[in-house]
Amino acid sequence: MTVDLIAYTQRVVPTSDKNPLGIVEEAASICYDSSMTDDYKIAKGCKASGHYSVLEHINFTFYVKDVSRALLAQISRHRHISMSCRSQRYCSEDGFKYVNPFTGEDADVFDNMMSDIDTDYQILKKYHNAKNEDARAVLPNACCTEFYITMNARALIEMSYLRLCSRAQKEIREMFTEMKKEVAQVCPEVANWMVPSCEANPKYPFCPEGRGCCGRHPKLADVYKPIKKNKEVIDGNT
Ligand SMILES: Cc1cc2nc3c(=O)[nH]c(=O)nc-3n(C[C@H](O)[C@H](O)[C@H](O)COP(=O)(O)OP(=O)(O)OC[C@H]3O[C@@H](n4cnc5c(N)ncnc54)[C@H](O)[C@@H]3O)c2cc1C
Repeated sequence: MTVDLIAYTQRVVPTSDKNPLGIVEEAASICYDSSMTDDYKIAKGCKASGHYSVLEHINFTFYVKDVSRALLAQISRHRHISMSCRSQRYCSEDGFKYVNPFTGEDADVFDNMMSDIDTDYQILKKYHNAKNEDARAVLPNACCTEFYITMNARALIEMSYLRLCSRAQKEIREMFTEMKKEVAQVCPEVANWMVPSCEANPKYPFCPEGRGCCGRHPKLADVYKPIKKNKEVIDGNT
């Protein structure tokens, strides 16, 4: 998998501060008639109090390569992204690359299956006059793809809540882990906010998932129970 940060929002009139969070700070400061700070206090305050809209002023563009079409289906479900991806209608997938999720002997079996599919794909085109767009019907979810993806910081953070969670599939979790590393080079604050949803409020971690909690943090019901019990004691309702 390749994940490269290609571009991110910068000012037209350059300043010494290349961190795009400075633009968020500037935009947020007019809301309160306050002066911008050097350490992005206003931007951080907005994030901490859930006023995420100010984070929509800065964008990040990534080039992603050698990920599966299964991952493409998952990332495409997010509605606040812009994408350009390799077309299986126009591009030939003869000898396609694929993501093998297995190891050892299972991986060998999977390799053989992919080889058979490649043969079938090429038979359809060569002997049945199929166009790429029709022959692709036999291609697997494992088939590799590549895309450019652009989103604002808010979308990136909110997608990370879901896709860095242990309930997300390994491949997409890896992609977001790589995106986080790339963003950390230019905007460490946004990278730090790219966490699974259980850590969205770092001081009060809890898991919002129903089933499949990984156990890293307590579930909300477990956190809330003792508080409720205490309140009942105070109210004399025991
Ligand atoms: C672990 C996991 C398992 C999943 N399993 C399945 C599955 O089995 N089947 C399946 O179909 N999908 C599945 N999904 C995809 C999931 O249901 C969402 O489609 C996907 O995660 C996008 O999330 P979203 O809709 O919250 O956010 P986005 O599309 O990224 O939008 C962000 C936010 O914008 C707001 N928003 C966007 N559009 C609207 C709108 N039209 N109306 C109101 N508010 C809007 C909402 O607040 C939303 O949370 C899974 C996702 C995960 C992480």
